[in-house]
Parts: sequence; C-alpha cells; structure tokens
Amino acid sequence: MIVLTGPSASGKTETAKYLMEKFGLKKVVTCTTRQPRRGEVNDVDYHFLTREQFAQGKAANEFLETAEYNGNLYGTKYADLGPDKVVCVEPIGAHSYRKALGDKMFCVYLDASEETRLARMIELRKDGVEAAQERIRRDREVFSDDINGAKSVADVILTTDGWTVEREALEVYEAYQTWKAKHNL
Ligand code: 5GP
Repeated sequence: MIVLTGPSASGKTETAKYLMEKFGLKKVVTCTTRQPRRGEVNDVDYHFLTREQFAQGKAANEFLETAEYNGNLYGTKYADLGPDKVVCVEPIGAHSYRKALGDKMFCVYLDASEETRLARMIELRKDGVEAAQERIRRDREVFSDDINGAKSVADVILTTDGWTVEREALEVYEAYQTWKAKHNL
C-alpha cells in the first residue's frame, strides 16, 4: 500500500489519480466531514460524513486514525484498507498510518515550494487567490514541525517543482516497485 503525504497542493491527489488510472492501483477512500468540492462524488473521492456519523464510527473503533484539518474531520477506516491501494493523507496522518501499519506501507513525501503549490492551487484547482494564500500560510504555521516529522517517516521524499503529474506518478510507482521487491511482495 502507498501512503502519499506532503503539504497542500504538493500533488498528492493528482498523483494518486494518475497511479489509479495508468498503473491500476485502487484508492483507499477516506472519510471527511467537509463539504464536497465541485465535481467530488460521495464514496469515490471521500466518504462524506456528518459530524454525528463520524463520531459514531469513532466510538465503534472503526478508524485506523483520525485528524482535524482546517476545521474539518478526516479519518481512515480499517475496512477501506487493502494491498496495492493508494491513499493521500496530511503529514500528521502519515505518522498515524506508520504507527498502525509499520513496514506494511510505503510512504512517499511529495514536496514542492510554496510558489509551486500556490500556482497549482490557483491555476489547476481554481481556488481563489486569497484562500490559496491563506492555506499556504496556515500550512506553514500548523504543519512546519510535522512536515519535517513526516519527512522522517517517509520511505522516499520527492521534490516535484517543475514536474508534470506523469513524472510524479512514474517516480512514485518505480520507487514502490523497488520497495516491494525489497520486501518480497
Ligand atoms: P482536502 O480537504 O483538501 O481534500 O484534504 C485536506 C487534507 O486531508 C489533505 O492533505 C488530505 O490528504 C488529508 N486527508 C484526507 N483523508 C485523510 C484521512 O483519512 N486521514 C488524514 N489524517 N488525512 C486525510
């Protein structure tokens, strides 16, 4: 299983999509209490839950890990894990995954400069300029330590400035194959 982590707009989601479309990996659909963005589909992009549904799942110990990010709850259910699946989580989540799964996961930290990430948010995701700048600022404050920490739990760190999504996905896939071979998988 591949765990992709890194700051906002580091390319996690697009890389995961490409890995699924071109390399046949399956997605670990995670849960969130945030509202769907335009075009997002329930049970495909996320399991979109109410706070009450989320709390019920937590009380029933269905979650491997949960996190709060930008005022919304996120979490992964054990039932949604599986081999040759890919998941995108923020850095704190990567720590929780490592704790729960040990060396049964391959973790890639996707890194990119703030300039690159801001441009991706505005040009590719069509986020508003102010919202994007705020997100970058918040990431810097909230996650600076954990981003460094997540780098320490990653098996591989890729700096993706100037890379296409094809390049990102290929680099991740090749590193995953090497990791699998090393672990006789
Ligand atoms: P977004 O709201 O932009 O889709 O996601 C916000 C952040 O939450 C992203 O970094 C995303 O990867 C992360 N995220 C998505 N699902 C989970 C999850 O199950 N657990 C954790 N810890 N983070 C998640």
